[in-house]
Amino acid sequence: MRVIYLDNNATTMVAPEALEAMLPFLRDLYGNPSSAHSFGARAGKRLDEAREQAAHSLHCAPDEIIFTSCGTESDNTAIFPALRRQPDKRHIITTVVEHPAVLNVCAHLEKSGYEITRLNVDGQGRLDLQELADVFRPDTALVSLMHSNNETGVMFPLRKASEIVKERGVLLHSDAVQSLGKVRLDMREFPVDYLALSGHKFHAPKGVGVLFVRREAPFLPWMLGGGQERGRRAGTENMAGIVALGKAMELATADLERANARVRALRDRLEQGVLQSVPDVRRNGDVGGRLPNTSSLAFKGIQGEGLVRMLDQFGICVGSGSACASGCPEPSHVLKAMGVPSSHVHGTIRFSLSRYTTKEEIDLVLRTLPELVSTLRSMPPSRGFEGTEDGGKRVCRT
Ligand code: PLP
Repeated sequence: MRVIYLDNNATTMVAPEALEAMLPFLRDLYGNPSSAHSFGARAGKRLDEAREQAAHSLHCAPDEIIFTSCGTESDNTAIFPALRRQPDKRHIITTVVEHPAVLNVCAHLEKSGYEITRLNVDGQGRLDLQELADVFRPDTALVSLMHSNNETGVMFPLRKASEIVKERGVLLHSDAVQSLGKVRLDMREFPVDYLALSGHKFHAPKGVGVLFVRREAPFLPWMLGGGQERGRRAGTENMAGIVALGKAMELATADLERANARVRALRDRLEQGVLQSVPDVRRNGDVGGRLPNTSSLAFKGIQGEGLVRMLDQFGICVGSGSACASGCPEPSHVLKAMGVPSSHVHGTIRFSLSRYTTKEEIDLVLRTLPELVSTLRSMPPSRGFEGTEDGGKRVCRT
C-alpha cells in the first residue's frame, strides 16, 4: 500500500540527492579523514566541503560548525560545556515546552544543584518576552529557548529574545531542530551562541546532527577521545551521514521561500478542509506564528492514538500529538502548558508535511478522515484505545 507520510516532524525521508551523495562513502570511499594517506585525504576534502555547505546554509563560518550524531547530542554538547565554563553561575532559564533533549538535561542539572527557571507559555504556545526579561539573576549562566516547537510548530521570537539575553551578557542556546528547511535560519541575525540541528528532520539520514558554536562562545569538549572536529567532538566522523547532511542542508535552504509557500498552502488546505468537514475541532498553537508545515488539531471527545491507528490502516502516517519512545500515558506537556481543555487534549493529532507532500495526498486524507472521526466518536469512550498494540500508551515524543 502507498504510504502518505505526514509525520515529518518525527523524521523525514532521505532526499534522493543526499542519498546519492552519501553512497560512495558507504561503498568505495571508506577512508578515515584523519589518515595521512591520500585515500583518507579524499574523505577529509569532502568533510571540509560538507562543513562549508552547512556553514553556507546557516550564514556562518565553517569553523563554527561541529558535526554530531543527532539533535539530542547537539543540545547536550551545547548546554554542559557552557555551564562548565562558568562554574560559579548556577541559574538556567528555559521554557516548559522544550523537547526532552533539553527538559531532561535541565531536570538532571536541577538535581545536581542548579536552579532552573522554566518560563510558561500562553494559550497559543507563545512566550512572553517581558517575563523572560524579568527572570535574569546575577548568577544566570545560560538561557535555552527552542526556536520552534515540535508538537505545535509555534515559533519563539528568537531574534528579539536573543537581544534581551545578549544585553545581559548571558549565553544563549537554541534548539532549532525543527526549524531548518522550514524557516530561514541566519546566524548573522540571531546572536545565539549555540544552535542545535538534526539531519533526519530535514531529509538527511538519521545519525548525524549539527551544533553551531559561535567563535566567541566558550566551549569545552565533553566526550574525550581523539582530536576530531578541531578537538571539539571526539570520534571518527560519520562520513556518509555528514556528506548527505551537507547536501540536505544545501537543498533545504535553497529556494526556501517558494518551497515554504507551497507547503504552507497544502497545510492550510488540509486544515481548512478538516475544520469545514469535522465538527468540534480546534487548532492548537499560534496560527500566525507557526512553522508552515505543522498542524496540531484537537478532535473533541476522541483518543488521538485511536485516530492515528485508524489512519494508519489507510496508509496515512500522522503523529499522535507528539509521541514518546518509552510510551507516556501522560498528555503532552506542551498542550498541558497551553491549557488545552481536557476534552480536547487527548484527541490531538499532529500533521507535519514536507516538500515532498502532494495535493493529491492531502485530498485523500480529507476524503478519509471525517468518517474515521465520526466512527471513533460513536464508540464507547474506552474503545479508542482498545486494539492498539501498546494498550493505548502515547508512543513517541518527536
Ligand atoms: N529537539 C526537538 C525540538 C526535536 O523535535 C527533536 C526530535 O524530535 C530533538 C530535539 C531530538 O533530535 P534527535 O532525534 O535527532 O536526537
